[in-house]
Amino acid sequence: MDELQLLIDLHKHANRQGPGGDAETERALDLAGLSRAAPLKVADIGCGTGASALTLARMLNAEITAVDFLQAFLDELETRARREGLEEKITPVCASMDELPFEDEAFDVIWSEGAIYNIGFQKGVSDWKRYLKPGGVLVASELTWTTGMRPAELQQHWDNEYPEVDTASAKMKVLEDNGYSPVGYFLLPEHCWLANYYRPMQADFQGFLERHGNSDEARAIVEAEQHEIELYEKYKAFVSYGVYIAKKSDA
Ligand code: SAM
Repeated sequence: MDELQLLIDLHKHANRQGPGGDAETERALDLAGLSRAAPLKVADIGCGTGASALTLARMLNAEITAVDFLQAFLDELETRARREGLEEKITPVCASMDELPFEDEAFDVIWSEGAIYNIGFQKGVSDWKRYLKPGGVLVASELTWTTGMRPAELQQHWDNEYPEVDTASAKMKVLEDNGYSPVGYFLLPEHCWLANYYRPMQADFQGFLERHGNSDEARAIVEAEQHEIELYEKYKAFVSYGVYIAKKSDA
């Protein structure tokens, strides 16, 4: 089995594939000032198995287009949506986030939790703006330095893995430079990483290794995930996901 199939198998049964939480999705919704009654069109980009899409479907009177390039994740999302009777509100679309099959100004809201880094924050906010209606809202979570200085080991790790990692003020500037007005920001708290994401993943490591005959490839994936978890635990005072809420501006 190739690495991608192994990663899909490790992550697809989880509630979420990155740090976050239902309460934090709701908090972002409140900061965005979105009406819960108005009929909204929402795109959730890099939706995974639907953590945020399902929360948004529960809370909003919205048509949600849930985009991911992995059909296996979208299949899980559909099963979860049916289980909750939310399938009428969510349309899964298998597409790449750098080639979205949408008309300009198709959405009131673009939502993306823990996923925009796949094409980079700068490119994502710039490319996706055209799909927002005038005055539409972007909500995206993005890896963020929480302090001006940080330990060299941590800096080196993320400079290699995701060179766009930066402070909140720098991310706000990217938003402003790309035609958005930032309207809200908060940091994901620790439970979004540990209780909601890493601990459930760790609980499946043994089962995952057994399902794959303890292969070298499967063990390499567990080791890489374990390394990232240890790094987070050691340096969680310096890094988190920032949640950025911004309105498409007229300029
Ligand atoms: N938003 C979900 C959550 O918070 O649980 C998933 C976050 S996961 C870290 C990133 C997601 O982005 C995965 O579901 C992955 O399949 C998807 N993804 C990665 N690259 C993509 C691309 N180029 N186009 C669309 N989806 C992509």
